[in-house]
Amino acid sequence: MKFAIIAHDQKKEALVSFIKQHIDEFSRHELFATGTTGLRVSEQTGLHVHRFNSGPLGGDQEIGALVANKEIDAIFFFRDPLTAQPHEPDVSALLRLSDVYDVPLATNEGSAGAIISYYESLGD
Ligand code: PGA
Repeated sequence: MKFAIIAHDQKKEALVSFIKQHIDEFSRHELFATGTTGLRVSEQTGLHVHRFNSGPLGGDQEIGALVANKEIDAIFFFRDPLTAQPHEPDVSALLRLSDVYDVPLATNEGSAGAIISYYESLGD
């Protein structure tokens, strides 16, 4: 499967920690990330991550293009609900595309846990 992983700055630590908790599962999948998230995750988990531009510089839109081409199976997007983001329109566009293409999307650790448990239960 192909997973997109993105975290706003205040949530990057939580995403890294979440991936470490589920490292066996994440290591079975191909990972695509916005620039800074991808760097942090690859440095701190050792996983290989395909990196795009940083989110504010178009990275969310690049991941959106993968979604539109049906190349992403699930999105883990740890959003910061308390800080205004300069690229909010790009974030909204990605969320919209996940609905257009019916791609499972987690925007917080609770929903991310539910989605990764599903993949863990498949056991492949
Ligand atoms: P970043 O982008 O991983 O480059 O920080 C994430 C975002 O803010 O959308």
